[in-house]
Parts: sequence; structure tokens; C-alpha cells
Amino acid sequence: LNEGMSELIVTASAEDVRLAKQTLDAVIAGVCPKDPRTKQVRRSDAAMARLNGTAFTCQCGSDDCAAELSAEQIGTRCARVVLHVVVREETLDGTADTPAVLDGFGPISAEHVREIADRPDTVARDLDLGDLLDHQAQPGNQYRPTATLDTVLRALFGTCTWPGCTEPAFAADLDHVCEYNHDDPAAGSPTCLCNLNPKCRFHHGLKTCAEGWIDDQIVDAHGVIWTEVSTPEGFTVRQQALNTWLLPEAGLIPCQHAPIGAGATRPESGHAENNPRRAKSRTEAKHAYRMARRAANRRIREQEAARTSPQEGTPPF
Ligand SMILES: [Zn+2]
Ligand SMILES: [Zn+2]
Ligand SMILES: [Zn+2]
Repeated sequence: LNEGMSELIVTASAEDVRLAKQTLDAVIAGVCPKDPRTKQVRRSDAAMARLNGTAFTCQCGSDDCAAELSAEQIGTRCARVVLHVVVREETLDGTADTPAVLDGFGPISAEHVREIADRPDTVARDLDLGDLLDHQAQPGNQYRPTATLDTVLRALFGTCTWPGCTEPAFAADLDHVCEYNHDDPAAGSPTCLCNLNPKCRFHHGLKTCAEGWIDDQIVDAHGVIWTEVSTPEGFTVRQQALNTWLLPEAGLIPCQHAPIGAGATRPESGHAENNPRRAKSRTEAKHAYRMARRAANRRIREQEAARTSPQEGTPPF
């Protein structure tokens, strides 16, 4: 901490603060890779520049600075700043008072969301969950979710689904929990509500690159969607989709595909790892490992569910 520094605190509505923060990120996105400041310092510098009407500049000091910080470049990025609010139709038309979700903030009241809806800069789009009954992947590209599924997933989970992460869902990647198999899309990793969730870029990378981490997604008999992340030591953190209360019907939409994991347990399925002639790539080996772990997890859960009354003296496990 540097002496001679001071702090400015601004209080405003949740949506205006979110917009201001995203605007700052759009401004600082233009510095060149050699800028020595941390992201937080860049944000503070950008905020002061905008408040004081001065220019925000790159601090690399090099002659070949590739910063994109002209008024037009900043303006173009700021024009793309969007704030997402998901609200039920009956809240919007005033027949119910179910809260809405403001991405990056959390629940907001029915009254508050109706005020946001009345803002001149608000654009409303209809979301029909029934569309998910027709298809959830884009017809031309089975890897990509439809716009409806994309929005439902982000609204339902609210944040990155890694335990403890609060990165906003609308800024996250949509990750296929069980990896999509580009060589054989039918082999058990569907683009479906049951198999996709948002992960921030950092945790998406952690899942893909770090050894031993396993994540899973379960839709229970009540249509509640749960995510599970197991650590390399085998501890499992399970959590309910954060905004189940907003879209409780989403998890009841039936899947249109074979059960996930079928490829790992049925030798005749033709899944990549069952073909002995083919050398496994690293991704395929990881995929096979995850499939086996998931199948084992499912068997344990099924056994636990089947155990109606635990025997006296049986150790808990
Ligand atoms: Zn620079
Ligand atoms: Zn995250
Ligand atoms: Zn499904």
C-alpha cells in the first residue's frame, strides 16, 4: 500500500454498477500486452481517467506499443457491453412477484426488474423453455447449444459452477461436463441441459488441464440439477444449480439421447476407447478415465439409493 493514496466509493443501483464495471473492462481491454499494471490498477486508472475526463493510456513505454485506446476503439468496445437479466414473464407482466436474476449480482426484486424493463436502453427477448423439447443442440452443429439452451444454462447456474467461484455465468464458457466426442457424437456426451454448465475461463482450463479433477452433473427425480466436483484426493463437493428457484421446470425437460456413460459400460457401443487398434490420444485417455469414474460414481449412488434400511453395525461409507 502506497501512502498518498485515497479511495473513492460510488454507490448506485446494481445494474448501473455492473454496467460501469463492464465498461471499465472494455476500456482496459485495449492496453498492449506489455502494460506492467495489474488488472485492478488498470481498472482504477481507467475509472479516474473517465471521471476526470483525461485519456487512459498504456504504460508499457515502448515505441512499438500496440494499444487500441483511441476514442473510437474504446467506444466500439463499450457499445458491446451488455447486462443480462433473466425474469419470468409473469413477473414482467405483474401477475407474480418472483424475483429476477441480474448476472454478476444475484436476485433482484420484481419491482426492481420491472424498472429495468422500462429503461430506454433495455432490449427484451422471449425465452421459451418449450423450444428445448424440439432440440437443444444447433441443427447444423451438434456441439453448439441453441440460443435457448445457452441462456437457460447461464440463468439456471448463475455463476461459474466450480465450487466457490462467483464469476458471472454470462461471461463464462459453456462446458460439456462429459467431453463431447467430435469423432463420434453419438457416443455419450450430448449437447443437453443435463451435460452442460458454465465455467469461467480459469476453471474451464483447470478441469481440462489439471490431473485428477472430475466433474459431474446429475438431474434428480425432482428435476433439480446438481453439479459435483471431485478433488484429486477423492472428496466431492456437490451443489444445487444456484437459480433452480427461478427456472424449476428446466430440469424436468426430458433428454433426447442415450444415457451418458453408456459408452463406457457397454463393450458393443463402439466408443473410441473400446477399439484396441487405435492408440489413445491424451484427450481420449482422459475421456475414458472420466467415463469410468462416472460409471463408478453412478453405481455407488444407485447402491446407496437401493439400500432401503442400513444394517446395524455396517460401517458408514
Ligand atoms: Zn503498450
Ligand atoms: Zn470459475
Ligand atoms: Zn440430457
